[in-house]
Order: sequence, then C-alpha cells, then structure tokens
Amino acid sequence: MQAVRIRDRRLRWPVPARLGQTLKGRPLLTLDRRAKYLLWHFDHGTLISHLGMSGSWRLHLEGAPQAGTHDHADIEFAVASGASRIARLTDPRRFGALLWHPSSRGDLARHPLLSHLGLEPFDPRFDAAHMLAATRGRQASIKQVLLGGDVVVGVGNIYASESLFRARIHPTLPAARLGMARCERLVPAVREVLAEAIEAGGSTLRNFIGADGAAGYFTLAARVYDRAGLPCKDCGTPIRRLAQGQRATFYCPRCQRR
Ligand SMILES: [Zn+2]
Repeated sequence: MQAVRIRDRRLRWPVPARLGQTLKGRPLLTLDRRAKYLLWHFDHGTLISHLGMSGSWRLHLEGAPQAGTHDHADIEFAVASGASRIARLTDPRRFGALLWHPSSRGDLARHPLLSHLGLEPFDPRFDAAHMLAATRGRQASIKQVLLGGDVVVGVGNIYASESLFRARIHPTLPAARLGMARCERLVPAVREVLAEAIEAGGSTLRNFIGADGAAGYFTLAARVYDRAGLPCKDCGTPIRRLAQGQRATFYCPRCQRR
C-alpha cells in the first residue's frame, strides 16, 4: 500500500479521517467478500467497503485518469515490478461505505454490519437442516425471509422468485410452515439459480460495471420473474404477480401451491 487519497468522506457513513495514515505502508494481505461487503484484510485490521446503490471499484493498471466529481477514494498499491495499481471508488449517489475495523476491536464477524448476516449460499453449512432450523416460528413469508438475508445472503428479489418457482414453493407461505421436504428442494434451487446468474455475468439491470470496466448484462433465463400473464414454462398456466413488502413477486399458481 503506497497511498490512500480520500476526496470526499461523505459516504453513507463518514470515511475515517485518518484512513490514509492507518493504511500507509501496510501490505494488503487478502481481499475477501461477505454478502455485499468487500473486505480488504491487512495485518492490523480490515477495510470494509460496500457499493451502496451506485458504487463501483475500478482497478487502473497504468495510472488512473484525472478524478471526476464522483471518484471519492483512490487506494494505490505498489507491486513487485515497482509499478503501482490504483483502485478507485466511484459512487455518484454516495450510499456506499468505506470503514475501518482495527483487529484490536475484536472479531470482524461481530461487526454491527456483519453480525446479523446469514450464511453464504455456497457455504456447505447452508443446507436443508439449517434452513429448517432458521425458519422455525417465523410467520413472515418465505419470500421475505429469503430477501431478509439473515438465513442466507445473496438472494435478491429476482433470485427469490426464481428459486421458489424451481422449488415449487408458494411465495406467501409462512416460513415456519416450510417443512423438511420443502427445505430440501429450496436449498439446491437457490444454489442453482445463483450459479446460473453468476455464470451469466449477473443480472444487474442498470449501472453495474465489472472491475475491468465491462458492463453487466442480464441473461439469466427467468422462468417467472417479470413474466406476469405469460404462460408458465412448465405447465402453461399464466404467471401471476403480487407485491410483498413493496417488492414484486412472480409465481405460477399451479406449480407453486400453498
Ligand atoms: Zn406452472
């Protein structure tokens, strides 16, 4: 790490004023991810970054262009050849975050932003038994429990509808009523949908760009999402739309019975 330049500290929470001094000269050990948080691990703590609504990190290999209005932070790394790489955080709406968690403050997993997070969907501990145990006594619908992120993270609105369709589970079913058989269908359905979406490059619709600058694209072949009135690909029944917690849900009334 050679230098950190913070141009605007006003993100969702103020960027620590001394972040530059904190990181100066410290090598980055690993880069990790937990839910939507990017974790930059150093020997004395972790930089926690979130992209909010509109943020992106771009990695510049040969010097970064002049910073624009929304380029709030640059982290410059020295690499073996003597050259440097610049990671630049751009965030027009400034809902993103850049926070420092020193090792001295204890276990990162207990950080207030991370402690409530459910399992990662590809974590082997995310299985039917976990899903069953985590939904006991919960009257909220299974769709909303999936979106809540405290049982499993990463299942956004599109993926929740798609996963429930593949698992043949009605989206308004109270999570408490899932039962083992449905959990055994839902867990692999979630993984299958996410794996396909990852393979397809993500489903972000608007302003996503990859670290290489390439735009995201929407190629997950949705079976129910945004298909209201169109025939179910399995049974031909028209797909229905309903609102749950102000989010649109799509389902097949025949394939997904309560
Ligand atoms: Zn159907």
